[in-house]
Amino acid sequence: MEQIKLELEPLLPPKHLQKKPLIIAGPCSAESEEQVMRTAEELKKAGIQIFRAGIWKPRTRPDAFEGVGSAGLKWLEKVKRELDMMVTIEVANVKHVYQALRYGVDMLWIGARSTANPFAIQEIADALEGTEVPVMVKNPVNPDLNLWIGALERLNRAGIRKLAAIHRGFSRYGTNTYRNDPHWQIPVELRRRVPGLPIITDPSHICGPCGLIYEISQKAMDLGFDGLIIESHINPATALSDKEQQLTPGELSHILHRLIVRKEKSDDEDFLTELEELRRLIDECDLDLVRLLSQRMNISEKIGLLKKKQNVTILQTQRWQELLDNRIHAASGLGLSNEVIEKIFMAIHQESINRQNKVMKA
Ligand code: PEP
Ligand code: MN
Repeated sequence: MEQIKLELEPLLPPKHLQKKPLIIAGPCSAESEEQVMRTAEELKKAGIQIFRAGIWKPRTRPDAFEGVGSAGLKWLEKVKRELDMMVTIEVANVKHVYQALRYGVDMLWIGARSTANPFAIQEIADALEGTEVPVMVKNPVNPDLNLWIGALERLNRAGIRKLAAIHRGFSRYGTNTYRNDPHWQIPVELRRRVPGLPIITDPSHICGPCGLIYEISQKAMDLGFDGLIIESHINPATALSDKEQQLTPGELSHILHRLIVRKEKSDDEDFLTELEELRRLIDECDLDLVRLLSQRMNISEKIGLLKKKQNVTILQTQRWQELLDNRIHAASGLGLSNEVIEKIFMAIHQESINRQNKVMKA
């Protein structure tokens, strides 16, 4: 897939970008002036410069707490004024955009449900035309990279240049370790497709109550992502939304102190020499893999011809199951996970089927 050139400018003024990673923290929702101010004060003491809070909440079902609405914007104005922090909120429609701008909200984010809806994104983009406000775009709820990129493009075409992506994970049917599966390969591919776009990870919405916020945050740092947006509430047990996943400012501060932030490059000579040698070995391995795959596909085609002559189906379920079990078994003795072998052989088997399909049609 081709790379996409967005017209980008730094998300924030230099003083906010000097310290890496960029940290945004605050409650899921603004609930009261007291909750907002007490949380913000504690976060400020912990060194946080950017305060998040949801004003309008996209709830899955009615009757859940839907946010305090525009009343909360005054509290955020107070956070700005009294604590000299920047503030950011979610906007999901044109009315939200106008109200946020009227109250001097410094940064906006677009929620995962809105990103999945190009009509909503286009309306928001049109409403933002002519403004300079930075906008962060959460990934859509479904694992669709093009939909995520499409939303960023719509905003960029409306002249929004201070853009970032927020990786908050992808929903699925049924339960799993994570509230939203991280599918790291998607933000990694976003980095390749849209060079220069900052990526901020949202471990709170990836984890839900799973207690892996530190691990997810560290992984984002290991991948060289640019920032973290983490939910923090002065008293999580009383929170009106996402109570299980919010940290106290103290807990958040503890996690941030443990984080190892990695640099993109090193000039150390020994490191560079050794890295180059190892990369040469990797290149050799990869070329061997490509040659082997080509050989394998040629054999597959021959099998396709045989099947065609005998009028036998391409898909032989029992053979496929045995092959997969056998490869997983062989690989587990070599320290390769079942999951990765399964993925690789699914792809190989699919390509074999495609080749045999071609042979049969010919
Ligand atoms: C949130 O940040 O509180 C939120 C609603 O997030 P998402 O759009 O990722 O569900
Ligand atoms: Mn939330």
